[in-house]
Amino acid sequence: TLKLTEFVTVSDLASMMDVPVTQVIATCMSIGLMVSINMRLDAETIDMVAEEFGYKTDFVSAEVVEAVAQDEEVDLEEDLITRPPIVTVMGHVDHGKTSLLDRLRNTNVIEGEAGGITQHIGAYSIRLQDGKRITFLDTPGHEAFTAMRARGAKVTDIAIIIVAADDDVMPQTKEAINHAAAAGVPMVFAINKIDKPSANPDRIREQLAAMNYLVEEWGGKYQCQEISAKQGININELLEKVLLEAELLELKANPKRRSVGSVIESSLDKGRGYVATVLVQNGTLRHGDVVLAGTHYGRVKAMFNERNQKVEQAGPSTPVLILGLDGAPTAGETFNVMDTEQEARAIASKREQLKREQDTRTKKGLTLDELARRR
Ligand code: GDP
Ligand code: MG
Repeated sequence: TLKLTEFVTVSDLASMMDVPVTQVIATCMSIGLMVSINMRLDAETIDMVAEEFGYKTDFVSAEVVEAVAQDEEVDLEEDLITRPPIVTVMGHVDHGKTSLLDRLRNTNVIEGEAGGITQHIGAYSIRLQDGKRITFLDTPGHEAFTAMRARGAKVTDIAIIIVAADDDVMPQTKEAINHAAAAGVPMVFAINKIDKPSANPDRIREQLAAMNYLVEEWGGKYQCQEISAKQGININELLEKVLLEAELLELKANPKRRSVGSVIESSLDKGRGYVATVLVQNGTLRHGDVVLAGTHYGRVKAMFNERNQKVEQAGPSTPVLILGLDGAPTAGETFNVMDTEQEARAIASKREQLKREQDTRTKKGLTLDELARRR
């Protein structure tokens, strides 16, 4: 039985049946259809061709695609372990996001931990002295966070809202706060650049209070830490507050299940093909797993951590760079591990088909709108 979607191409169908594409073309010709390699076939033709080669077909439905995305596997209580928090740093431009992420990348790494974080893969994990870990999303502009929010996926557990003490709570600061609040993500405020003579952290606390975000030291419920990202002042104190927030959240995951997570970034690398950084949110991702990410899929050929070391597996809250996908999935897309490549391919192409139909509908809609406007 072939598990597939209608409108696969002639060449895809041939490779699924493991027969030369010329034979599929010949079969189509014998039933009066002139086709080319990249032509898409309808369900009826696929059925006929498949039968000719001794296959039955099983077309993937939109419901199945939906079910995979929902992933209703239930974790047993006894399998759950505490997982590290996934943290995003947000704030107004020039308030110190990059400086803080760079600082975190280079410090607070346990003595003797092999290699520095040399590779930028869009996320990294740091291990603190007490063995606790924190994972930071490190995507410029934090598109991933926004993209994931737009898709309803939740990848961030805690947001650090960074505000420069020599400036004000700015429009992008407010936007970041509103984003986090809307997503139900707890915030820790970092008042940065306190090394500057012109720093006035009280003004920031006041402006936050005016927005109804009263910080802890003023009797409110929001944790706040004065820092200097540049000088490395109070960085540990900030991390402790993040960990405290994480404890309250009681973040759990089941390392025994099949992995699910989100795509952080992806690209085409000249030497290695398509590379994608994924963040494992539940389960354990292993070398050799069949990954389905949006409309792309593939078997994991190799995995690397942010230290550019090859790894065989990645547990909950771990970011890894994976090789082996057949394309570059969009940041914010979820990934699932599937049983077989065939199944993954079928669902990927069904998604592709649904997307195409959606696009056509949107285009038609636009045209009608335009027509209406012209009248
Ligand atoms: P981003 O736009 O939020 O990523 O901000 P950057 O990290 O690029 O920082 C903007 C500027 O502020 C840079 O020139 C940094 O060197 C400077 N900066 C960041 N943190 C501090 C700090 O703690 N103290 C001082 N004095 N300057 C800082
Ligand atoms: Mg920056």
